[in-house]
Amino acid sequence: MPHVLALDLGGTKLAIGVVSSEGDVLFDEKKPVEARKGSEYLLELVLQTISSKLDQARTKDVAILAVGVGSPGPLDYGKGIILEPPNLPWRKVPLKQIISDLVDLPVFVDNDANCALTGEAWLGAARGFQDAIMLTLGTGIGGALMQEGKIYHGELGSAELGHRIFFRKEQACNMGHRGCLESLSSGIAIEREAKESTKRVFEKMRAGDQNAAAIVRRAAEFLARGLEKLNEEYHPQVVILGGGMSGEKEYADLILENIKDTELKRKARMAQLGEKSGLLGAGRLALLGLNRM
Ligand SMILES: [Zn+2]
Repeated sequence: MPHVLALDLGGTKLAIGVVSSEGDVLFDEKKPVEARKGSEYLLELVLQTISSKLDQARTKDVAILAVGVGSPGPLDYGKGIILEPPNLPWRKVPLKQIISDLVDLPVFVDNDANCALTGEAWLGAARGFQDAIMLTLGTGIGGALMQEGKIYHGELGSAELGHRIFFRKEQACNMGHRGCLESLSSGIAIEREAKESTKRVFEKMRAGDQNAAAIVRRAAEFLARGLEKLNEEYHPQVVILGGGMSGEKEYADLILENIKDTELKRKARMAQLGEKSGLLGAGRLALLGLNRM
């Protein structure tokens, strides 16, 4: 059975593992990412993590045929160049080339939200659907669009739905968009509003803090409105919420409760693969890439 190495890179952590063509995940591991330490540090971390995982697979006699990477965008999908992600210190880093030089295997790079949707389309909530939207809620908000079974890439590497400007607001995301979904409903947005970590905000909310609850409720309301707008624009068959912050049950529940549009209510659902969507999707990306070679 073919196996590939999959890496799901984020602004605060990365996940790595070996993925089989059947969708089994082996030797998976998570590591914290301290993006503020800079570009060189991050590249070193990614390369070291990949080589030690390849060594581990080798000692267990698992042959790895390719590497798949999901990274925050915007990125040049064809060339595998990471352009200027707001939540990573990389500027025009040719990641695909750099990893290929290290591992001597085919390497495939895609946007992290695209990978999450690819994973959900393979084994999760978008399985069997041709047209889907997925938002990944975390430090930022990733957004992927699948039409007729194909992930949309465009010039920025993904549909970047989290940066759609749906509201006239003063708040800006790290890319400077005022009123985009990321500026109002992401982890960064909640932290800025509460002046505390999202983890702490959710803890306080659970403990009955009214201010924390109001901040989370407001973020969830904007997100629900944004999802309604995306649904009106694309009319996908399914709309999926994933990413680390969707694991905060109160937040996910508030978003779903706030959806008023009955059509969207029917098709909105949580990711089924949990935090493994991105990892499995990066694996699937590599497996599909190998098939095309
Ligand atoms: Zn934005």
